[in-house]
Amino acid sequence: MWKDDDSLTQIEGLDTGTYPKKCPICGKSSVHLLMYRYSEMSTGGGSWIWCSSCRRYSHINVTIPKWWTNFDGLEVKQLFASPEYNIDDKREDIDRWVNKLISTKPDLSKEKPISITDDKTLYVIRIEPQKITTEEKAEFAARLCRCDKKLALELIENEGFELYPMPATDIRIVKEALEANGILFGISPEYKW
Ligand SMILES: [Zn+2]
Repeated sequence: MWKDDDSLTQIEGLDTGTYPKKCPICGKSSVHLLMYRYSEMSTGGGSWIWCSSCRRYSHINVTIPKWWTNFDGLEVKQLFASPEYNIDDKREDIDRWVNKLISTKPDLSKEKPISITDDKTLYVIRIEPQKITTEEKAEFAARLCRCDKKLALELIENEGFELYPMPATDIRIVKEALEANGILFGISPEYKW
């Protein structure tokens, strides 16, 4: 019987070292980690932390770090909240996968932070399709892309919604507006010039 226990998220250094890690509940070295990024366009995703000895687990929504690449040993339809379905069976492969990602991830503390005006990347904002259902939100999106409201609504409902590529200085403003309106979105860098 697997038991949901979000105290596992309090383990320090989940993104460093090697797996399996020591379990704060039972003390055995059998804590594993898996994340899943919903799409290339999004920083959102799910995370599983579980102990295969005492069978405690935590499954929550998280912001997926840049260094994460989705595990290729399970398809999305095989992922469920509880590790007893598939995830725990693959724990050794998953540990190897995570350990490799951790050992090759760039040391962010050494990266020079770039100021927003120095950032020459163009970004695309993608509004999550299912989340935009009301006329009011479509109106807002139409205003942002300066297009017809009906067209904006159709675009959103049928294929999600992308705003044209824009520089970091502009994206900050649009991002704030979207957040203030409670609209879910993903941002991806598109071009460098
Ligand atoms: Zn445990």
